Amino acid sequence: MIPLADPTAEYLALKDEIDKALLDTAVSGRYILGPQVEMLEREIAGYTQVAHAVGVASGTDALKLALTACGVNPGDEVVTTPFSFIATADAISGIGAVPVFADIDPATFNLDSALVAPLITDRTRAIVPVHLFGQPADMPAIVALAREHDLAVVEDAAQAIGAKVGENKVGSLGTAGAFSFFPSKNLGCLGDGGMVTTDDPNIAERVRRLRVHGAGAKYLHDELGYNSRLDEIQAAVLRVKLTRLEEWTEIRRELAGLYDELLTGAGAGELTTPHVAPGVRHVYNQYTILSDDRDDLAERLRRRDIASTVYYPRPLHLQKAFRFLGHETGAFPNAEAAAGRVLSLPMYPFLGAEGVREVAGALLP
Ligand SMILES: *Cc1c(COP(=O)(O)O)cnc(C)c1O
Repeated sequence: MIPLADPTAEYLALKDEIDKALLDTAVSGRYILGPQVEMLEREIAGYTQVAHAVGVASGTDALKLALTACGVNPGDEVVTTPFSFIATADAISGIGAVPVFADIDPATFNLDSALVAPLITDRTRAIVPVHLFGQPADMPAIVALAREHDLAVVEDAAQAIGAKVGENKVGSLGTAGAFSFFPSKNLGCLGDGGMVTTDDPNIAERVRRLRVHGAGAKYLHDELGYNSRLDEIQAAVLRVKLTRLEEWTEIRRELAGLYDELLTGAGAGELTTPHVAPGVRHVYNQYTILSDDRDDLAERLRRRDIASTVYYPRPLHLQKAFRFLGHETGAFPNAEAAAGRVLSLPMYPFLGAEGVREVAGALLP
């Protein structure tokens, strides 16, 4: 049996250190916004090459608080991709703003920056590119466009911690970055967690307020906010796992390279391996292939007890929850085509070359 991801293996590999971190936190009596969160914030800021990082309760909240702190208000328009997990657009709607979709580049699955410009109106306040599957979006073009129109860029980096454009990490490229520590992400905790990154001290300060009901000083509330803290116990676990992130990311990249090698060429004409844009570091939260026969391929895997999944079978503009936006089938053809052809294969640091060979062997005729 080969799963899609294996968070238990990650825990077991670090069991002694994680168990100690959990017990120490339990004994400390500091459970909310204590030293572990503070130290993790410093470490994540260092890792992502930004001045400030603020721990929050989830990746979804990281997006909401970052957008609000960047000045996005109810009624404002925010341009984003229709090919993502629903949290991307749910966060925009959740703060009362309006998601405006631009279609994707069919090769990278990321926002097509050329399609963003025509959507900018005088109500547009921000762009939310998603670094889907661990590959950075076309940030140079998106950031240039945002500068030109005085817009914020909030990176949805939930799947992409450690990914880079040139030497620059995601989360440091826009106005703010939003990370998720959901267990299946490349840096996952034992539950929910998230982080906002930014170089702007005012944005960081506002996120710090928003996560504690808008309080500047204790019991003095400058605005209304949320209860959205990263738990101390999750921060303690994340600090242990962060020490292995680079090593595990390199293993993911090697496994992806092996998939590429085995799935390209003889007998594999019916599937396309991931396209990596030049100059970026893809961190493969998912290894996602394209095929007209993806349901048959998934069935072939299932028969050998190998997991696979479709991220995502229905683009956001065709979700019932977003029917109020009024989009029809055909509105974003590249996103719709991708939704019909993608298949994500098992990908995790403990999959091993043997695992990759087994998956590839099951896929090839
Ligand atoms: C996981 C994810 C989120 C949300 O993160 P949570 O921690 O689950 O709230 C947002 N965007 C993308 C692209 C994701 O994959």
